[in-house]
Amino acid sequence: MASYDYDLFVIGAGSGGVRAARVSAAHGAKVAIAEEHKVGGTCVIRGCVPKKLLVYGAHFAEDLKDAIRFGWQVPAQCAFDWPTLRDNVLAEVERLNGAYTDTLNSHGVEIILERATLTGPHEIALASGKTVTAKYVLIATGAWPAVPECPGHTHGITSNEVFHLDELPKRVLIAGAGYIANEFAGIFHEFGTHVTLINRTDVILRQYDHTIRDRLLQISMTKGIDFRFHAAFEKIEKLESGCLRVSMSNHEPLEVDAVMFATGRVPKTEGLGLDKAGVELDDKGAVKVDDYSQSNVAHIYAVGDVTNRVQLTPVAIREGQAFADTVFNAKPTTVDYGCIPSAVFSHPPMAGVGLTESRARETLGSVRIYTSDFRPMKNVLANRNERALYKMVCEAETDRIVGLHMIGPDAPEILQAAAVAVKAGLTKADFDNVVALHPTMAEELVLLR
Ligand code: NDP
Repeated sequence: MASYDYDLFVIGAGSGGVRAARVSAAHGAKVAIAEEHKVGGTCVIRGCVPKKLLVYGAHFAEDLKDAIRFGWQVPAQCAFDWPTLRDNVLAEVERLNGAYTDTLNSHGVEIILERATLTGPHEIALASGKTVTAKYVLIATGAWPAVPECPGHTHGITSNEVFHLDELPKRVLIAGAGYIANEFAGIFHEFGTHVTLINRTDVILRQYDHTIRDRLLQISMTKGIDFRFHAAFEKIEKLESGCLRVSMSNHEPLEVDAVMFATGRVPKTEGLGLDKAGVELDDKGAVKVDDYSQSNVAHIYAVGDVTNRVQLTPVAIREGQAFADTVFNAKPTTVDYGCIPSAVFSHPPMAGVGLTESRARETLGSVRIYTSDFRPMKNVLANRNERALYKMVCEAETDRIVGLHMIGPDAPEILQAAAVAVKAGLTKADFDNVVALHPTMAEELVLLR
């Protein structure tokens, strides 16, 4: 019997890796986890959590304006201090980093704060020069921003750097039209930065329902966010003034103070030594895994964004849990990828679960669509001409709800609860049977016509 230093060595202490390490240790495994940055990974350190805190901070811009209509005396010019918010958010990130570290420690997981790479099937080299061995290896290194190559692209930043800006740019160009681009377009705009969003196609948030994303586009444009479509980067030049001049196809060059790339994220497998262990990657560089997150090498598994299945934190957490239960609790567990709710924390936010209208038409043929296009009561009194839109997609034959899509205040909060009903296979009639909770925005879901 071969003996190893650890039962499990996890590379990457993000959402998936931490869950897998902690639960495997709870199942009795001797576990080490290596992390070259900070414990917590993308979501906690430079993603979902600090982003959501900035979204809260940004939304005060609208709340303060609206408050006047509700009788509050608010100074005409409310000053916003970026360093205060930035530092408070970074302090919260530090706190969470500590909390994640404590959890791992209290479960007896050894934390190794250095880069780890595979040097053989069971062998891991640490940056300090030490080599260790493990019976099982879990790759949980996540993904990294993809930056399109063009002359001067190094002048741009990504979501990794945006939380640390010394000052807010007066004008920002955001490249991409997906999650990060639309979320940061909203954040910067609310803080008073002029935002231009450019994309290589004319589709924003392509996985979302077309009516909902069109509504976001329309609201964003009305607010003053500029969109430039069919624009591919040609070059970025740093001018003597310190500004950046961006040249792109099909449009005039633009001068801005900052460029932010939000053009997708690629699995972080480069230089990990996976080839030395014989682990197969796909054409995007993601670790190829089966339903149990097992790679082609029997004792090497991978979870989270590095597998490029669904790039969402709660999915990575489930994959980490399923891995630990399968390998260290003799309970083979797979993750159910059906009906995963998701949200974009734009201004206003949008959320969806299940099939979009066009996907449902393609796959089911006959569908029924119910919508509610309304101005939330709070927006009416605030004189805010911003309408919410809810859409329910049902299979015509069975009345079963196959998709629910929303844009409007608190849409993600409302959708999380409604997603339970969609996942459970409830019908439109089941929703209609529920008495409305009045006055709320969510009541629209049981009043759809
Ligand atoms: P997205 O995949 O959401 O969007 C990428 C955007 O960049 C698209 O508009 C795409 O254009 C464009 N693009 C892709 N490749 C290139 C290229 N080579 N050159 C120019 N443009 C390009 O990626 P994000 O970076 O916004 O986010 C990464 C992932 O992180 C998301 O997929 C999501 O899973 C996760 N995430 C989730 C959040 C949430 O849950 N709220 C928040 C933030 C991130 P086109 O579509 O036209 O091809």
